[in-house]
Amino acid sequence: MPRPDSHNGRAGSGAGASLFASEAEAAAPGVYVRVAVERGIDRLPTSGDGSLTYRVVPPEARPIAGQRVEVPLGKAGAVTQGIIVEVGDASLADEMDATRVRSITRLRDEVIPVDILALARWMAGYYVCPLGMVLAGMLPAAVKRGTGRTRVEIAALVGTALPEGTKLRPAARRAHAALCERVAAGDAGPWPLRKLAQVLDLASLAPLRRLAELGVIAVTETTEVVVRGAACGASAGSVGASADAGLQLMHTQQHAIAAILHAPESGARLFRVHLLRGVTGSGKTEVYLQAIAQILDEGLSALVLVPEIALTPQTAERFTRRFGEDLVAVMHSGLTASQRHKAWARAAAGEARVVVGARSAVFAPVQRLGLVVVDEEHDSSYKQDRLPRYHGRDAAIKRGQIAGCPVVLGSATPSLESWHNATVPAGPGLPPRYTLSELPTRVPGASMPIVKIVDLARERAIRAHREGLEDRRIHLIGPTLEHAIEATLNAGGQIILLLNRRGFAHYISCARTSCEFILSCDQCDARLVLHKHQGLPMGGFVRCHHCLAEQCVPRLCPICQGRVGFFGGGTQRAEEEIVRKFGSLGIADGSTLLRLDSDTMKSARDYHDALARFSRGDVRILLGTQMIAKGLDVPNVRLVGVLDADTALTIPDFRATERTFQLVSQVAGRAGRGGQTGHVIIQTFHPTHDAIVLAAAHDYTTFARAELATRLRASLPPVRRMARIVCRDADLQKATHAARDIVQALREVGDPTLDVRNPVPCAVSRISGQHRIGIDAFSPTAGQLQRALANARARGLVRSDAKTAIDIDPVALM
Ligand SMILES: [Zn+2]
Ligand SMILES: [Zn+2]
Repeated sequence: MPRPDSHNGRAGSGAGASLFASEAEAAAPGVYVRVAVERGIDRLPTSGDGSLTYRVVPPEARPIAGQRVEVPLGKAGAVTQGIIVEVGDASLADEMDATRVRSITRLRDEVIPVDILALARWMAGYYVCPLGMVLAGMLPAAVKRGTGRTRVEIAALVGTALPEGTKLRPAARRAHAALCERVAAGDAGPWPLRKLAQVLDLASLAPLRRLAELGVIAVTETTEVVVRGAACGASAGSVGASADAGLQLMHTQQHAIAAILHAPESGARLFRVHLLRGVTGSGKTEVYLQAIAQILDEGLSALVLVPEIALTPQTAERFTRRFGEDLVAVMHSGLTASQRHKAWARAAAGEARVVVGARSAVFAPVQRLGLVVVDEEHDSSYKQDRLPRYHGRDAAIKRGQIAGCPVVLGSATPSLESWHNATVPAGPGLPPRYTLSELPTRVPGASMPIVKIVDLARERAIRAHREGLEDRRIHLIGPTLEHAIEATLNAGGQIILLLNRRGFAHYISCARTSCEFILSCDQCDARLVLHKHQGLPMGGFVRCHHCLAEQCVPRLCPICQGRVGFFGGGTQRAEEEIVRKFGSLGIADGSTLLRLDSDTMKSARDYHDALARFSRGDVRILLGTQMIAKGLDVPNVRLVGVLDADTALTIPDFRATERTFQLVSQVAGRAGRGGQTGHVIIQTFHPTHDAIVLAAAHDYTTFARAELATRLRASLPPVRRMARIVCRDADLQKATHAARDIVQALREVGDPTLDVRNPVPCAVSRISGQHRIGIDAFSPTAGQLQRALANARARGLVRSDAKTAIDIDPVALM
């Protein structure tokens, strides 16, 4: 880990601050530090950022900002981890009685680089989160624990000559001769001692220890991170990657690279955000790769963020194949702790100069950052749903700004926030904030898929007519899609089917229309979902998707003792139906049909294995939730079916339309990436809805224009900025009162542009027994919103704690 040698200007030294310092001596000059402790306290000392002052002992220690430290906290002085955010003299303790400043317990080795410390400060302010909590999340647990850190002996050559009259045993003599040979051949070390023994073909280290005694080599100790265990995703080659677009670029791609790397006015490389909108399969990744190649040539490094679910071995391999494994570090959830630590250490040491990772990789200690890329920038998984509630894309933009380098946001369906920034003037007479580059066509050899919208109401009528009213089974696959699946299977093609809902049935109620029983969770405002499971009574269990509580399947209606019906369909029900309908065409559960959802995919390894099986062609039909909508590039996919395009449309969230458009466009984009034309069938009860019609027509611009106009009329993001505060309490009265107090505090700030709405119960009004009351606040700019919150926070009226969740730029409004 890097520890700059330059010092931090501590005042005075040797002031006698020994461990036995008297109180008078304690007030003497020395080194003082401000420490942000890794605790969720949102207390407000005068420093404003929640940091606490400590004295450094021993006085000769040289702490630096960003260094990890252990400090006593609270009355009992419990040892707590923290990060030094400032180093200085006794003036840091000015506002408190200097004699009462406590001493740090221990300085640790890990250091958060200064640019990431700056990012943390911004996040703490912007996302209304204690600085210590922000910092705590920046270092991977494996780094904090030091997983995989091992002592390594390093041998440096002193001189090949032996002291006169030295008598050597045969093994040492051979080792000396081999070493001399090596040095003569131009390799003068230094070498890790064990490696040197291997290279020189020695059976043990003893001969080298003897050479060290004789002063031929000098052996020193250092620490290094050693990876243990097999790498998940190391078998990257097993995933059938599609043919690389290679170095041949379309004109639009060249144009985009030039725009990213050179600011149009001056040609200089500066911080600037570029939105790269390219249709699915248009070669966005090739643009990233070539821009990165240029940055590397200049001796700089690049940071690439990818949604976790799209960070497959296939994606990682495109980077390692282009730049070599030595230069690339991939950070994803499939890594073991020691691998994670190693990747982090390689970035910190400047060895890994291309860091590819999911959301939290935005904190990777990349040295000399020259380019930041956020792929699939619209993806909602970039938003963390627990403290600190940051958006990975926005943190990445801030990181680029701190480093003074370009930031590229790539997507086929950009978020309206980014589209707004790239197309709407930043002010009167000003250009838009972001630069826009577009890749409107697929790479040569691939055409856009042909999309057909199917009206589910009509499909039902067709089936009723054909099969009579006898067939009362639930069909998730209508006649049109059924026919297309059959034809595709017969032609040897592969199929992706999307149903963004897990489980078997998500509506369990009394079969009698006169009875009102619906099975709901006791602790949540939510219906329970039936999951089938062999071997359990009634063939499964019911689960709450909010609090995860499980129960037995009810046999009878508890109100009228009537029969219970299981309605609505999730991926499990679709799986059963597919086997029933296409079993005769060789489709069998688990072999030629694979279900991908968070119930079947327990780890990143499961997921990567499943994708590899589909890429090899062993699996003919891949059925899944939104997990399958991203990053999958399999040339033989000739049909994509969307079983129910309306799942996101009916959610009470102003982004429901945008989500639907994105999901349908993204999954449709998986079809026809090889030579064959792809077909997409979208089943919906809303066949004329804009989101569905325009996604089918691959018409992002019309969609975005219409949706932006809607948001403008309603003054919703991205036209205004938004904060959402949710008050939780087991007691509804308390939650309501807390929410009212916050509304009052925000209104008292007296900013007429701040629009604070009255508190209302959330769409899911209770989770795990906690009532949830939400407050929405809107403001023309992020700055105004932040000032209002900071004001209320400084007066102690709003705080982030277990009962209050503050979400800036929220993406989920449930
Ligand atoms: Zn529940
Ligand atoms: Zn009943």
